[in-house]
Amino acid sequence: MSLVTLSDVLQPALRDGYAVAGLVTLGWEDMRAYVAAAEAENVPVILQAGPSCREHTPLPVLGKMFRHLAEGASVPVVAHLDHGYTHEECRIAIESGFTSVMFDGSRKALAQNIAETAAIAEMAHAAGVSCEGEIGFVGYSGGEGSDGTNPDEAAQFASETGVDAMAISVGNVHLQQNKEGGLDESRIRAIEAVTEVPLVIHGGSGVPVGQRSALARGSKICKFNIGTELRMAFGQALRTAVNTDPDRFDRVQILKDTHEPVVEATRRVLQAFKGI
Ligand SMILES: [Zn+2]
Repeated sequence: MSLVTLSDVLQPALRDGYAVAGLVTLGWEDMRAYVAAAEAENVPVILQAGPSCREHTPLPVLGKMFRHLAEGASVPVVAHLDHGYTHEECRIAIESGFTSVMFDGSRKALAQNIAETAAIAEMAHAAGVSCEGEIGFVGYSGGEGSDGTNPDEAAQFASETGVDAMAISVGNVHLQQNKEGGLDESRIRAIEAVTEVPLVIHGGSGVPVGQRSALARGSKICKFNIGTELRMAFGQALRTAVNTDPDRFDRVQILKDTHEPVVEATRRVLQAFKGI
């Protein structure tokens, strides 16, 4: 049994200078491959169920899947709700066995984001579950623009909500398919100077790999969310598997061919977050 909370994996990462990957899952095939990769690299891993995952599979089912994988894993595994938008959604995740919930109040005014996040952090902590919040707004490639995190607001958010991890907007963008651009390191330094809470980068796929490694080792960023990069690896492997044999129709046989390519792509992601 190696099911743990977000705090259980982020506090050692903060202390020892590495980061933990928050891997965006869409189904059994990728979550199983992510755990296999984490075991091969001997690092903890955060399995995340975001909005599109929940649209496909109900939270109580996802909670069981994450916990089943965690119980059989040789490394610590966190069952994490990504971008919960309501108190109710976070409550259902906690009841479904998740060990960490992210409440995203980043589109709301500061006072409202603080009040709602604090209430969810309190509910989570009472259940022995961790809570991640977001301050500033991380935009979406081809969609909503970002609103960079103000360091003073981040300090206030951290102290008044009691969150265990804080997602910040420092040049990161969700759903980015290339790695151009990178993060604003001076803004990161200004934020980490005023808080002790582990920091989280959403949209990690768009961050150059060298910058991921440097920040994992030398900043308070302890969690990078990686989704797009691994979804692209899965999609490519699936397309190859489907096209290889036009007579094959059994989906279990087809999906088997995605396992190794996704494990390999995930191992490369995890290697960049290791300490020195
Ligand atoms: Zn996100």
